[in-house]
Order: sequence, then C-alpha cells, then structure tokens
Amino acid sequence: MKELSQYKKYKRIAVMGGSFNPIHNGHLVAAEAVRQEMDIERVIFIPAGSSPHKESDPMYNEHRYLMTVLATVTNPDFEVSRTEIDRMGKSYTIDTIRELRHKCSKDCEIYFITGADAIAEILTWKDPEELLSMCKFVAVTRPGYDKTKLKATIDTLNTKYKGNIEFLEIPALSISSTDIRNRVTAGKTIKYLVPESVENYILKFGLYGAGLSLSGTEYINKKLYSVLTPKRFRHTQGVAKEAVRLAERYGADTDKAYLAGLLHDCAKCYTDEEKLAMCRQYNVPLDDVLYAQPDLAHSFLGAALAKAVYGVKDEDIINAIAYHTTGRENMSLLEKIIYIADYIEPNREPFKGLEEIRELAYKDIDKAVEYSLKNTIDHNVNKKRMIHPLSITALEYYREGNNEKR
Ligand code: ATP
Ligand code: MG
Repeated sequence: MKELSQYKKYKRIAVMGGSFNPIHNGHLVAAEAVRQEMDIERVIFIPAGSSPHKESDPMYNEHRYLMTVLATVTNPDFEVSRTEIDRMGKSYTIDTIRELRHKCSKDCEIYFITGADAIAEILTWKDPEELLSMCKFVAVTRPGYDKTKLKATIDTLNTKYKGNIEFLEIPALSISSTDIRNRVTAGKTIKYLVPESVENYILKFGLYGAGLSLSGTEYINKKLYSVLTPKRFRHTQGVAKEAVRLAERYGADTDKAYLAGLLHDCAKCYTDEEKLAMCRQYNVPLDDVLYAQPDLAHSFLGAALAKAVYGVKDEDIINAIAYHTTGRENMSLLEKIIYIADYIEPNREPFKGLEEIRELAYKDIDKAVEYSLKNTIDHNVNKKRMIHPLSITALEYYREGNNEKR
C-alpha cells in the first residue's frame, strides 16, 4: 500500500479483495459499480497472498498481481496493492483492514467489496465480528447466487453480528476465475471475459496450460499476437499467405511456407537490449555487424525462438527464418520464398521497385531474389547502415547465376 500521507486525504475508500486468479471483467464491473454507487474516491484491489481459504500456488502470486495491475491500469480511480502478496505466511483480510485503517484518516469510510458467494462465507474468515465492526461491506449480486438469499444473509449478519453491510445490484456477468482457467486449459476463447491485456498475459506466460490444446497454428498465432505490434502481426499474416501462393507457384510445401511466413518476424518487436539478451540466452552467435545493429539479429534470434519456443523442428523452416533478412548464397526454395514473400506481401508500404519485384517473383524467383538483394543493399547504404557480408555474397551468387541464364 502507498505511503501513509497518500491515504490520509481520502474520505471514502473501497477494497476489492480476491484471488484474482485471474482477474476478470466480473471483478472490474463489480468494483466500478461500487465506486460509482457508493461515491468511492479510490478502489484498492488487493490480490490475496497464500489464501487461508483456497490452495494457491505461490508461483502464481506474481502473475496474479501483474494481471491485476494490467487490468486496472486504465482506470485512474483504481490501484493495486501488494500488501497481501508480500505478507509472509497466511494472509487474512482482518490484518489488511487493520493496516489500512492505520493508514487512513480517522473519519475515512472503508468499504470491503464482496460478491454474493463471498459474503455468505464471511463467518469462516478470521475474527469475523471484529472485521464486520472495522469496515463497511458492500455485497454485490452475482449470477448463480440467489438475490433473496443474499439479502437474508445480509440481514442476519447486520442484526446478529452487528455488521454494516449494504446490498448492491450490479450488471450480471456470469464469469468466474475458475471458469476462465478451465476455458484456457480447454483452449476455449476468453476474449471479452477478461481485459485484452490479461488475455495476452495468460498466453504469453502459458498460464493455466494455455496453448496446450490448441492446434499448432492457432497457438502460434495467439502467441505471436501477444509479442508483436498489431502492424507487425498483420505483416506476418500477409507474408504467410504470400508464401503459400509462391509455394503453390513453385511446387514447394505450402504448410512449411505458411509456418515459416508466420514465424519469420517472431523476434522482431523486442527492444535492442532484449534482442541482445535473448541472443545470449539462446546461444545465437553475434558477429560485429549484428552486434552493432541488433535489429538485424531478429531473423537469427527468430530462428532460435522458432525452435525453442514455438516447437519448430524442420531445419528448412528454421533456415528460412534465419536468413529472411540478410539472404545468403544458394538458398533453398523455401528460403527464397520467405525472403521474397517478406518483400512483396500485400500490406507492404509501396516503395520504388516493389511492383517490378512482385511481377518477377512469380516469373523467376532467382531474379526476384537478385533484384531484392540489390534494392535492400542500396537502401541500407543510403541509410548509412552496415551491410551484412551474407547479403553481399548472396548478391554476387545470384547475379552470377542469373547472368549464366541470360
Ligand atoms: P474463483 O472461481 O477462483 O473462486 P472468482 O471468480 O470467484 O474466482 P475471486 O477472486 O474468488 O473470483 O473473487 C473476488 C471477489 O469478487 C469475491 O468477493 C467474489 O464474490 C467477487 N466476484 C467474482 N466474480 C464476480 C462476478 N462475476 N460478479 C460479481 N462479483 C464477483
Ligand atoms: Mg471465488
């Protein structure tokens, strides 16, 4: 939780406690409804530490916390506290409220938000009566839990246990973290059930068995979506489709072309520092040119990631990814297809010579390769970038080969 002084200014605070394993739109809707209805200045999401009520895997603590941050970051009235996550041993709500009470001004009203299911269990929490006396509660409706029963529970707690619990009807979202986890494990979509950032996070870290039951390309596409910018993702789709068309034209394996096209830029959107660090991690050798221009290493790093992360075993695909930027002499048909598809895919911003290469690509792929290499080298020389020796030997190789044909 924040420094003392920062809480002193608030008169009305709400705590949204939960496992948030993961946080979902049901939690967010509940918090936002309470914020507005109860005129709350600040909602503090407090992911539970090792919960006394549920088995929680400590490995997931950090993930649950970070997903809660991602989900709430766009709401200026929401914040996330690590107080329970960082607490050693079992974590109890009463300790959290005590801590918060201490930090807030005397006249600050603290509300604790609970769903219908949680309030029904409150007597099983630690020191329930003291807890009920320390803060107000808002019990919100939740699909699957009877409203009349909820009201009756609130009445009992208020009269018998001197609770201060208010009832609030909120928009019904039939979502639970359990259901989200099960859907992820089963490969079902969770789009629109959790914020997009949370969906991407789950996929990126393979939480709850994400990806295990998806088909190969579905998994790859989802994972790529989480590591590429939208523009780069679109480009990737364009290259994969163009590669298939070229494979059909030249009699290459279309499945391999599609996969290599999808993955060719899988390392492109990491920062230079990340690229260098990952090259070390995945044993990608860096020569002087790559070291000086880490972006150029994305193709070699991409090949390593295709193998290690995306499970590609085919050497031809790996090489097509590795050499899609520099090219090299004597490329395989698939390598040439990816090299050219990257150059001519339909989403490419138009540039000088693009239309000629598009035409040439379907007439004579070797000539298209020569032309593209020449264009790329000229372009990079103009930009005062270092040219990788592989591109220079490749250009010589294809120039000679094509001259012999001419
Ligand atoms: P799990 O399925 O793992 O129990 P959950 O979806 O119930 O997860 P929790 O983290 O246990 O989520 O819930 C935190 C708080 O949010 C609880 O008070 C719970 O009642 C409330 N809550 C969760 N989902 C909803 C929902 N869809 N509508 C209203 N309240 C909800
Ligand atoms: Mg629950």
